[in-house]
Amino acid sequence: MLLEGTILSGPEFEPVEGRLVIEDGHIDSIEHATARTDNIILPAFINAHTHIGDSIAKEAGEGLSLEELVAPPDGLKHRLLAAATREELIGSMERTVSLMQAAGTGAFIEFREGGVDGVRAIKEVLDQFETEGIILGRETIEAMEQADGFGASGANDGEFSRERNATARAEKLFGIHAGEVDSSDINPALDLDPDFLVHMVHAEPLHFERVEDSETPVVVCPRSNAATDVGLPDIRSLLDRTTVALGTDNVMLNSPSMFREMAFTELISDLSSVEILQMATRNGAEIAGLNCGVISEGMEARLLVLDGDSDNLTGVQDPVRAVVRRASISDVSEVIIP
Ligand SMILES: [Zn+2]
Repeated sequence: MLLEGTILSGPEFEPVEGRLVIEDGHIDSIEHATARTDNIILPAFINAHTHIGDSIAKEAGEGLSLEELVAPPDGLKHRLLAAATREELIGSMERTVSLMQAAGTGAFIEFREGGVDGVRAIKEVLDQFETEGIILGRETIEAMEQADGFGASGANDGEFSRERNATARAEKLFGIHAGEVDSSDINPALDLDPDFLVHMVHAEPLHFERVEDSETPVVVCPRSNAATDVGLPDIRSLLDRTTVALGTDNVMLNSPSMFREMAFTELISDLSSVEILQMATRNGAEIAGLNCGVISEGMEARLLVLDGDSDNLTGVQDPVRAVVRRASISDVSEVIIP
């Protein structure tokens, strides 16, 4: 397979005009040449934090606090999930994965509600799509055993050492929310030695130090934090110390669009476009344990092709800035997932 255009190559997304040669689902070579198309070729996005189960609850609960919205077991989201039929849940998740794939997401890390049944339901959905879900069961060890790991709500909601140990024994991924509404659950979350933390809006100097010392990656979800009015993470301080990836969080609160998440992140931070695109691709791939997110020889060819001559993108001077700040689902011409 051969792709032609401006290739955002290597870990820094160096724009190279030419051809990308793909063999057996992997990148074989990047050839410099005059391209006959305006395509912009980049790694597919890795959405590092989602709850797509709450696709049944889009835009529900205006004006409610974070706790009233999503806290288990009585938050609005959990009541709506409990009230929905399996068919409704599966149908709404299908539409969301379809949208995510069309918008360039090659893989996502999902915190899946509903125990073993919830894990089975999303696996049924994923069978129909190329986009890969790394599914972390939430409520029980049994759910973790059926899934790719365990996604804990937060250290103030329970004591997760049993789940943590079982997940480690199974050599699976353990993630936990921390520092979303305040800092009180960050130290106990770090005590669990998680594979990654989610949010860290309220991290304090000691927490930054602990994250650095333990090399614990962090997933930030700035649009979600803005939507629930809990504050915004200090992404620069996190990024100076560890791997930081981007996630869109609850479908209930926000569309699962990495384009929107990147554009928002660009506006609320002092990060460069390259850093933000790294957070949307290779950093999430690193947390998920995937061999993608960078266009270089030998990497898996999980790719996104944008039409650089769309009404939206034509004439852009800086393709990386354009991808981060301006591009949208309407510019996608192809999503390649081996
Ligand atoms: Zn979450």
